[in-house]
Amino acid sequence: MVRATARTQEPIPCIDFVAEAERCPLCGKAVQAQKSKRRRVVTVAAGAFVARKIRKCCSSGDSSHPVLVSEKLSGLVPAQQGACEMSCGVKCPA
Ligand SMILES: [Zn+2]
Repeated sequence: MVRATARTQEPIPCIDFVAEAERCPLCGKAVQAQKSKRRRVVTVAAGAFVARKIRKCCSSGDSSHPVLVSEKLSGLVPAQQGACEMSCGVKCPA
């Protein structure tokens, strides 16, 4: 492995944010991990990184049950970035 010393962009670190919840808050069934999405975010605290979000949705298949996301990520990302996630993340595609 050769490490370039040029001042090109550093590779952006990729951090996994797995939803913490294990059960659906609505019906108590186990939740299943959904395929992840990568998203580049920039925070004041941590700089730029790629967040790989692993959401979980209710195993009942009922799309009115909430999709769960990592609360850590919600806390890190500014509100308006999180707002999009809320609006496009509510439907369970299963
Ligand atoms: Zn449920």
